[in-house]
Formats: sequence, C-alpha cells, structure tokens
Amino acid sequence: MLNVYALDTETPKHKSFELPGAHPHYTPDRPGQVEHIALDLLLDISNQRYTGTCRIRLNPVRNGITYLTLDAVTLQIESVMVGNLAQTFDHDGEQLHITLSQPTVAGQSIELAIAYRSDTPQRGLYFVAPTEHQPNKPILVWTQGEDEDSRYWFPCFDYPGQLSTSEIRVRVPKQYQAISNGELVETLEAENDKIFHWVQKQVHPTYLMTLVVGEFDEICDEWDGIPVTYYAQRGRQADAQRTMGKTPAMLEFFSDRFGYRYAFPKYAQVCVTDFTFGGMENTSCTLLTDRCLLDERAALDNTNSEMLVAHELAHQWFGDLLVINHWSHAWVKEGMATYSEVLWTDNQYGAEEAAYYRLGEMRSYLSEDKTRYRRPMVTHVYRAPIELYDRHIYEKGACVYHMIRTELGDELFWQAIHGFVNKFAHTTVETLDLIRTIEATTGRNLRFLFDQYVYRGGHPDFKVTYRW
Ligand SMILES: [Zn+2]
Repeated sequence: MLNVYALDTETPKHKSFELPGAHPHYTPDRPGQVEHIALDLLLDISNQRYTGTCRIRLNPVRNGITYLTLDAVTLQIESVMVGNLAQTFDHDGEQLHITLSQPTVAGQSIELAIAYRSDTPQRGLYFVAPTEHQPNKPILVWTQGEDEDSRYWFPCFDYPGQLSTSEIRVRVPKQYQAISNGELVETLEAENDKIFHWVQKQVHPTYLMTLVVGEFDEICDEWDGIPVTYYAQRGRQADAQRTMGKTPAMLEFFSDRFGYRYAFPKYAQVCVTDFTFGGMENTSCTLLTDRCLLDERAALDNTNSEMLVAHELAHQWFGDLLVINHWSHAWVKEGMATYSEVLWTDNQYGAEEAAYYRLGEMRSYLSEDKTRYRRPMVTHVYRAPIELYDRHIYEKGACVYHMIRTELGDELFWQAIHGFVNKFAHTTVETLDLIRTIEATTGRNLRFLFDQYVYRGGHPDFKVTYRW
C-alpha cells in the first residue's frame, strides 16, 4: 500500500533569490530596428589594445528622433558620424548619447559610424598571453558577449531583442588567424598583416557576435555540404578530433529533432585558453574552454565534453535561431540546451542512460532549491542578468521540457517543438510564445503547468510511506 501526501511548495524557509539592490528590468524603448552592424578593427596584440569603427544601420521607428542612447562601456569614443556629418555626442563611460543633427524620418535608415579605441579592455574582448608563471600560454584574443558584455568591446544597442545582420573585418599580424560569425568572404595580405572579413547574413543579437584570433590547428569536417571546423591550440589536433568529432552526427540529429535544418553557413568550434565559461554558443562560431579537450586516456570515461558540444550546438536552434527577447526568458533556451544533453545521451547510449542523466539534472536543481533559494524560472527582478544563469533555468528547465513531453506524449511534443522552431526562426521569443504554439499545434492548454512550474517556484514534494 502506498500513501502519498502532497505538501505545500512555497514555505518561507527558502532564502530569497533577489539580492539586495535587485529591481525589475525591462527592455529599453526602441528608436528603431538595427538592420546591420559592421565592425572594422585593428588589433595591436602585443600591446593588448585595439582601435575600430562600428557602423550601425538603424531604421527609425518614427519621425523626429533627435537623441540616441547606445551602450559603450570603458571605450574611448573618438567621433560619431552620420554620412559626412559629425554628430555631437556625450559619453559618460557607460552610455553614448548622440544628438542627431538631422531628426529621423520613419523608415529612412541612417548609418552611424562610431570611431573608437580600447586601450585597456577589461571585459568583452580578452587578450591572453604567456606570463612569468605560465610561459606556455598561447597568444590569443577572444570575446564573450553574454549577457551584457558586448558593450565593452563595441558600441551597440545591447539587449537581446535587437536582431541584425553583422560583419567583422579585422586586421591582425599575419601569423594569426581570425575567426568569427558567418562566412569568411575575404582574406587580404597587407604588409606584415592579414585582414579577415567575416559576414553573418542571418540576423542575431549583439551578445552572439564574436571574434577569436590566434594560431590554431584547424580540422575541417563537413555535414550535408556545411563546413564543420574545429580549432585548437597547435599540437592538439588529435584531441580536438576526439572531443568534437561527433559534431556532424549531432548536426544531423538536432536538425531532425527540432524539425529545422541547421540554419547557418558553417559551424565552427574554437577551443580557447582562460575561457570564463565552459562554452558559448556564438552564432555559427561556438567558443569552448580548452579544458574540454580530451587526451586518449581522458576520453575513455568522460562524456562531459561530448555533452558540452551537444549543449552548445543545440543553442544554434534554441538561443541563436530563436532568440529570447529578454533575459527573464533565458530558461527557454538554457532548458532546451540542457535537455538536449538528455536527448543526445538517449540517441548514443540508450534510454536508461538518458533517464539517469535526467535524474542527475533533477538532483542538481533540487540541491539548489534546498540549499540556496527557490524562485520562478521566469523573473525580471534581479541585480544583474548573470544571476539568472542558475540550476533553475538549466536543470529545472530541462526537467520542465521533459514534463511537457510526458504530458503531451512524444508525437504531440515534437509537433509542438517543430511548430515553435519553424514559426519563430530568425525572430525573438518569450515563454508565452511557447505556450501559444503548444496550444496551436496540439490543442492542449498547458497554462496550468506553466503557472506552477515556470511562473512560480518549487515542485511537488511528496512524503511517501508504506505499510503492509
Ligand atoms: Zn547554454
């Protein structure tokens, strides 16, 4: 016999998620649609500084805008031009306020050209070099935009609701290679330098723009006509192949699972030293920590790197193709990327391994809930968006996707996911879009489930006893 008691889920014993100073965050008012961002950079690698021009084409939403505010932290702004006309501006170290000499006309795009430099970059763009204590460190440059750090390496409207095409043209000493989003359209030699020109024709947000510069071993693979490349520090070619070699199979798998063929012209993964995270799903150009590279011995019993590769690749759909319109909905992408580790485990190692993997994810969330705090997965009250990247949006998010799947059944779940991805490809999404797509594609109204598990904290807590 089994006795089941459901207990109250929101007891006051939990500590607050909100740190002192937390407040509601909203996307700023939009002056218009950013259509294109073009960076032209000159890197002075030995002195760890750079100069550049950032061109932003903006299609104004209305007439008469005379004042624009961009994010630009610790950059030295040298000039702002629209066409041939210099614009007056004021830079307070965090934001760049531009007074337009000509008020905007709705629908008539303007191009801002902002000349700037960064002499001591602190965030956004990082220089790595050998040190006294680590003489074998490679010379490298890499960027990290998520969540709001792109503003540290180029001036921009830095929030995920603005999607645009982009290009990066960068001049570096010629022994180095520069890798970025999209396609490499040109490489030029100029004296002792090389110029790399990358163009991303699919829209994406500023936080997914990236640049990596270094000397790499490059492995070229391919999936269905799409170049798949792995970059690692010189001499680690075999480790790179061992660690990332399943990528083409994963591209096939996720294209099928999500009902949408991989959307970008190439997929590159670059392993970099001193990376601050495990991996970052920059559009078509994922960065991975070089600590994920496996030698022969480590590969025997380590699938962490394989799951990292799967997680970042799944983001190319959930995060990059469908972009969250605000950090508060980050669970939509992080939950699915984390659930994709389960999907890939199921595909490679079978249903039992997948169930065990899922159990691990659940326990990881339960531990945070028990020892740190309990919160709704969707909340816009925080001090900094990075606080949201916790076990609630990753592991609980994955569990909630699995619960939706269990509730709908396999057929309807995948129907809903395919509908969601196809409807919102190359646009922004929030949680409500997922609820509505489930309704539209399956007829099921899951608001009761989202209310309990997504918009409120906690989970069912059963005390189970038995007697016989
Ligand atoms: Zn992720």
